[in-house]
Amino acid sequence: YADNAMYKAKDEGRDNFQFYTKEMTELAFERVVLESNIRQALINDEFTLYYQPQFNGSTKEIIGMEALIRWEHPSLGLIPPSKFIPLAEESSLIIEIDNWVMKTAMKQIKEWYDKGLSPGVLSLNLAIKQLESAVFLDTLKKRMDESSFLPEWLKLEVLERDVMRNPQDNVEKLNLIHKLGVELALDDFGTGQSSLTYLKRFPLDELKIDRSFIKDINQDAEDDAIVMAIIALAKSMKLNIIAEGVETEEQLSFLLDNGCQNIQGYYFSKPLNAIAMEKLLKE
Ligand code: C2E
Ligand code: MG
Ligand code: MG
Ligand code: MG
Repeated sequence: YADNAMYKAKDEGRDNFQFYTKEMTELAFERVVLESNIRQALINDEFTLYYQPQFNGSTKEIIGMEALIRWEHPSLGLIPPSKFIPLAEESSLIIEIDNWVMKTAMKQIKEWYDKGLSPGVLSLNLAIKQLESAVFLDTLKKRMDESSFLPEWLKLEVLERDVMRNPQDNVEKLNLIHKLGVELALDDFGTGQSSLTYLKRFPLDELKIDRSFIKDINQDAEDDAIVMAIIALAKSMKLNIIAEGVETEEQLSFLLDNGCQNIQGYYFSKPLNAIAMEKLLKE
């Protein structure tokens, strides 16, 4: 995973004029992405949450937001999750990180509701290790109790490629979570291998069309067809559908024309820090 993340970053750097700077920063990243550094970052409170709003593409209203972690490193600056989440996922560190995320995000969203704002539903990325951990259900309930957080304010996103690896066991866990009244979304949909049988058996509320299919809308006929097929699949299974990575007006129109109302992407907004998000909610 870590190698893969590094490779991807290098790949992006190739046609970037900041090539050398990027390569040098990367060496620093490699050093930073050590387990002990992540542990220290938790202790030093160096993680921070950004929130990316999700919109109803027709009415332009905010329907919810996804919490996305960043590492505010004292000397390296803002480090994206792709640089440390894959490594954290190899150990139980991911559980500690995601517990912190859950606590911080719930507290923030509750605060916004208390201020009379409408943040909508909070989406959290749930690592598969977390889902599989025996104490997760209790932790989740405890967290919601502690922050007086209503289950209907919460949606948990699981990655299609992770959850489909061990569907029998995961379906039971997901059922227990769903019974609490928490919504469930399948993230990066289309990149993993979903068995249609499990898609039917999972207590899902939403499919998130992966950004890789949205990117080439109207440029790649196959991607257009895939996007339309995913929307049709969601409709026929009575699931909500949301597109991630929507950057252009053209992509937005295509999605709206084909029945996908819910939109997340730079076209409407990049992920924002809490201060910027609060400002947006007040507008
Ligand atoms: P994801 O859950 O699929 O999140 C969406 C990613 O797409 C985010 O990247 C977001 O910033 C990016 N994105 C959204 N709209 C656009 C767009 O229009 N254009 C482009 N180019 N990108 C867009 P980010 O924040 O770097 O997160 C990457 C991945 O890291 C996430 O993918 C998720 O799998 C993981 N992640 C982030 N935060 C957490 C967390 O708190 N816990 C766990 N376990 N994983 C996390
Ligand atoms: Mg996600
Ligand atoms: Mg995704
Ligand atoms: Mg992703």
